[in-house]
Amino acid sequence: MAQVEPIKAFNDNYIWAICNTHSPETWVVDPGQSQPVIEFLTTQNRPLSGILITHHHWDHTDGVAELLLQFPDIPVYGPKDSKFTGITHALSPDDTLTIADITFKIVHTPGHTLDHICYVNEQLAFTGDTLFSGGCGRLFEGTAEQMWHSLQSLLKLPDSCQIYCTHEYTLANLAFAHAVEPNNKFLEKHISWCQQQRGQDLPTLPTNMGIERQINPFLRAEHETILDHLPKNFQGPTDTTWQKFANLRLWKDNF
Ligand SMILES: [Zn+2]
Repeated sequence: MAQVEPIKAFNDNYIWAICNTHSPETWVVDPGQSQPVIEFLTTQNRPLSGILITHHHWDHTDGVAELLLQFPDIPVYGPKDSKFTGITHALSPDDTLTIADITFKIVHTPGHTLDHICYVNEQLAFTGDTLFSGGCGRLFEGTAEQMWHSLQSLLKLPDSCQIYCTHEYTLANLAFAHAVEPNNKFLEKHISWCQQQRGQDLPTLPTNMGIERQINPFLRAEHETILDHLPKNFQGPTDTTWQKFANLRLWKDNF
């Protein structure tokens, strides 16, 4: 058994701590900063057992070197062929990894970056900057078609699967989602809940796949009415579902 705790970093990042409930074993996902992690470990009286990286961006990796000064020899898992050079244990697509009594499958999800991987199983998934609540990562390195296929592999997860992404972008994402689907009642209810959470300085995360299937326009690109409110200047080809997704992504980039 493990418990997952958010550690706040920068303005809107969460470094997720995976704490084994039967032992002091503790892992962190995407430590862009070291100091908040050190403070968490000190408060909880836990050592750091290892690090998981989803992709090479600095706000997911900049804390690694300092954490290693304090905890030398711990493994740093991350994607193979990453621009981040601090990975000690490179993971390939479909590898499995067991930490803190949890076994993850490694899913390669290019789109936001080309190296991006997610750590998933039926109960929980660490999706980095690929899948956000109500949104998905910007396409910095990959294509819209790649990102669409990456999101499709995450859509195979069951409704109850808890989604831990790296950023608290939810309210901004849902404002866009509401522009896309102004008549989505489930979305309206979820926006109210998220506003309450943020009003109390609480995370809107984790989310789960059941919620995301209802509210996240980027997972709903194949719904018949999804492009009904698309502004004219973002209208591109819509022959395939990934092209519909590409229209939504371009609209969001300019929202
Ligand atoms: Zn990123």
